[in-house]
Amino acid sequence: MPCFVSHLESAIDGTQIPPGTLQTTHRDRPLWVRYDLEAVGRAVGREALRDRPQTMWRYRELLPIEHDEHIVSLGETMTPLLECRRLARALGMTNLWIKDESVLPTGSFKARGMAMAVSMAKRFGITRVAVPTAGNAGGALAAYAARAGMECYVFMPVGAPVVNQYEAALHGARVFLVNGLISDCAQIVRGGVDAMSWFDLSTLREPYRLEGKKTMGLELAEQLGWRLPDVILYPTGGGTGLIGMWKAFDELHRLGWLAGDHRPRMFCCQSTGCDPVVRAFQGGHRFAEPFTDPQTIAAGLCVPAALGDFMILDAIRESHGRAMSADESRLKEWMQMVGRLEGISLGPEAAVCVGVLEQALAEGHIDPDEHVILFSTGAAQKYVDAIRVDLPTLDHRHPIDWDALAR
Ligand SMILES: *Cc1c(COP(=O)(O)O)cnc(C)c1O
Repeated sequence: MPCFVSHLESAIDGTQIPPGTLQTTHRDRPLWVRYDLEAVGRAVGREALRDRPQTMWRYRELLPIEHDEHIVSLGETMTPLLECRRLARALGMTNLWIKDESVLPTGSFKARGMAMAVSMAKRFGITRVAVPTAGNAGGALAAYAARAGMECYVFMPVGAPVVNQYEAALHGARVFLVNGLISDCAQIVRGGVDAMSWFDLSTLREPYRLEGKKTMGLELAEQLGWRLPDVILYPTGGGTGLIGMWKAFDELHRLGWLAGDHRPRMFCCQSTGCDPVVRAFQGGHRFAEPFTDPQTIAAGLCVPAALGDFMILDAIRESHGRAMSADESRLKEWMQMVGRLEGISLGPEAAVCVGVLEQALAEGHIDPDEHVILFSTGAAQKYVDAIRVDLPTLDHRHPIDWDALAR
């Protein structure tokens, strides 16, 4: 099976870099993976996908994989795209869908990026990896590293969700709790590159996690019959998912696979507890100022400074979308709203999108009849503190007061 990667390209200045060796950043900013899309178009048509297994690897020609043996997989299934009629009605709209990424290995969409990045790291002979993480990336990397037989080091802020801490350890990673933010963890990982000879898998510090996340956009397009929605709401931390989807739509457009020229407005959703991209968007800036003293239960969004800030902001603006923040104090409320109305387990990150959606409808940034997709990026069950409730107890030795149960 041929590989169609033509080169890597610096996102900050367009410098081209040959693809055959392991790369990190250029001028301390991310790299794009570029493909010979004409050759892809000659080699495969979108109808050929129909007979392939329902996994992210079905988009093989648009991924950097050279040989199937390089793929490190835990079964990255296509995720459900669920129409939400009851939630839509509650919000006064008509065409709302949730793409539920919580069904992926380790319960979040981080699996897509890590499956791809670990596959490439393995192909380049890497045997030890490290990552700074707010939570889910650590669990996902630990699992894929175990699968690939690599050694794994994970650095998390002390306040990271406990399930993330334990799941990374469960998968054999050496997990350290750092008394600081994800940026402080990142400093440790960068600092250890020489002394520990590990490969740094931080968000956007190598080019391949982005290619894995890109499959969210490819998959969404295919699920919708290649007709893209009007609006995508995405809970944005480091931004790989938003940047990756916008890249996917561009590649599909160039391939001529999209029905019409319609592309969605990308809504970058953050919490008021950490919204550096929203501030930069409002200020008309291309780069974001680091957010001081971030505080949010949406761990995946607790990213005070994103390496790809300009890539996020470029995508939002090119798409005529927006960056908006939702009230941190209401995240649990929105998690419960979706849980009760739709039975979908929404993490606090995606709950941010519900808040933004409410506000965007009220302010007229989204029309009630538009086709809107909200990304549920990870499972609520990992956030024990956010879903904790006081439950009534029953004494089985006494008669049950049936009327009391329904009160
Ligand atoms: C990491 C994470 C995010 C943010 O993802 P980016 O693509 O890096 O912006 C959102 N939600 C969850 C559950 C996450 O784990």
